[in-house]
Amino acid sequence: MSEEPASGGPVSDEFIADLAAASRILAARGVVDAFGHVSQRHPDAPDRYFMCRAKAPALATPEDIIEYDLDSNPVNADGRGSFLERFIHGKIFKARPDLNSVVHSHSPSVIPFGLVDTKIEAMFHNAAFLAAGVPVFDISKKYGATDMLVSDNDKGETFAECLADKDVALMRAHGSVACGATLQLAVFRAVFTEVNSRVQHWTMDLANGGKIASLDEEEGRLADVPNNGACMRAWDLWRREIRAETNW
Ligand SMILES: [Zn+2]
Repeated sequence: MSEEPASGGPVSDEFIADLAAASRILAARGVVDAFGHVSQRHPDAPDRYFMCRAKAPALATPEDIIEYDLDSNPVNADGRGSFLERFIHGKIFKARPDLNSVVHSHSPSVIPFGLVDTKIEAMFHNAAFLAAGVPVFDISKKYGATDMLVSDNDKGETFAECLADKDVALMRAHGSVACGATLQLAVFRAVFTEVNSRVQHWTMDLANGGKIASLDEEEGRLADVPNNGACMRAWDLWRREIRAETNW
C-alpha cells in the first residue's frame, strides 16, 4: 500500500469543531440519518479536505475528523475508517475551485424527484438556489446495474461532471448533494433542499395538476443573495444547539 499523502498543514480547533458540529446539525434537521456526510476544503491547501470518519453523523466529534487529498486518500486515518462515498467530495473539490463544502445525503423528501420526470423547483425564497436548475445523476447510464453508490474516483468524476456548474444535484434512487462556498452555506442549502422538497410535495397535491408559481431563474438569482446572510443566522442558531449538548 502506498504511503499516506502529506498534510496541507494545521487548522484551528474551531474549524474542526464546526465541521463535526455540521454533521450533528444535519442529523438534527433530518437531512442525514445513520448515513450521509459533510466535508470542508482545507482553508490553506486547496488540494486537501476534511470529513468525519465513517460513523453516524449525529455522533460526530472533533476527534473523528480526517484529512484527505482530492483522490480521497486519507492523510491521517490512524486506523479510523473512511466513508465509502468520500470520492463524491474529492472530485467535486477538484472540479469546482469555487466550492469549499459539500453535503451528501439521502434526505427522504428529495429522493422522489430523482425517480420521476417532475423537476424539483424553488418553492420559496430560502430555497431560491434551486431555481438555477438541479441535474439528476443516473449512475446506470455509464455503469449499468450497480449498488448505486459513488464508491470510487471514476464514479466521483462522472458525478462531478453531471453537477457541472450547479450547486445541487440529485442521484437517481439514492440521494442528493448540496454544495457551497462555505460550510455554513452548504449546510443551509442541504437543509432547505429537503424542506423545499417537502413543500413541493404539498404544493403539487394542492395544485392537483394545475400551475405552480415557483421562482423563475431571475427571481432565484435575486432571492438567493440575502440567503448568504440568512445562512449565518441559521448557522448561529443550529451551532448553539450542538454546543449545548457537547463541550465543543
Ligand atoms: Zn449515498
